[in-house]
Amino acid sequence: MEERAGQVKRGLVIAAHPDDAEFGCAGTAALWSRQGWDFYYLICTDGSKGSNDPGMIPEQLIVTRRREQEEAARILGVKKVFFLDYVDGEVTYSRELVRDLVRYIRLLKPHAVFSHEPAQIVGDRFINHPDHRFVGMAALDAVYPMARTRPAFPELLAEGLEPHRVEEVYLWASPQPNFEVDVTDTWDLKIQALLCHRSQIHDPEGLVERLRLRLQGEDGRFRERFRRIELF
Ligand SMILES: [Zn+2]
Repeated sequence: MEERAGQVKRGLVIAAHPDDAEFGCAGTAALWSRQGWDFYYLICTDGSKGSNDPGMIPEQLIVTRRREQEEAARILGVKKVFFLDYVDGEVTYSRELVRDLVRYIRLLKPHAVFSHEPAQIVGDRFINHPDHRFVGMAALDAVYPMARTRPAFPELLAEGLEPHRVEEVYLWASPQPNFEVDVTDTWDLKIQALLCHRSQIHDPEGLVERLRLRLQGEDGRFRERFRRIELF
């Protein structure tokens, strides 16, 4: 981490739903924030499908989840959370989505972008949520080539947003991780932030245990793993 000393670097986390970032990279966001990075969250959907409770009103859930996400971000030291409010569960790959991501990349000028690994479609025991796949794909395309291509979205130039080159991408939930961050020092913060998402968590102890089993090594250390892409 020496090379990062003295420089303020920015990280932008692009996630489909409120709570995805906590699972994916919250330990790293908290750790690097402590080391001087500025982290921002960009949440693409409104989280309105995150309940099967027949008594839950989507408008109410949207407000609740937004509040939960902001509380989680505060715990981690994330500077600000932005919401795009696409309808939960209905994200498709579109020009609008890529443009909206490029807008925030050009606005915030992150050194690193964190997002979903779009290549993960199925595992042995799960199907990756389509919002995760489309957001991950759009995030990659926003980073390269669109954010750095000046004529890409004329409407963004009209807003005064000039091209920006992101230098690193970190994808969580990747079948091919090539980079890990020891988040033992911020593990408690990751868990606290995750547990802010009360509307989504019905068995907090079970969740924490599953996460521990997944991310704790035999040496007792906790690690978040990413597919890291260094762009030149
Ligand atoms: Zn999600």
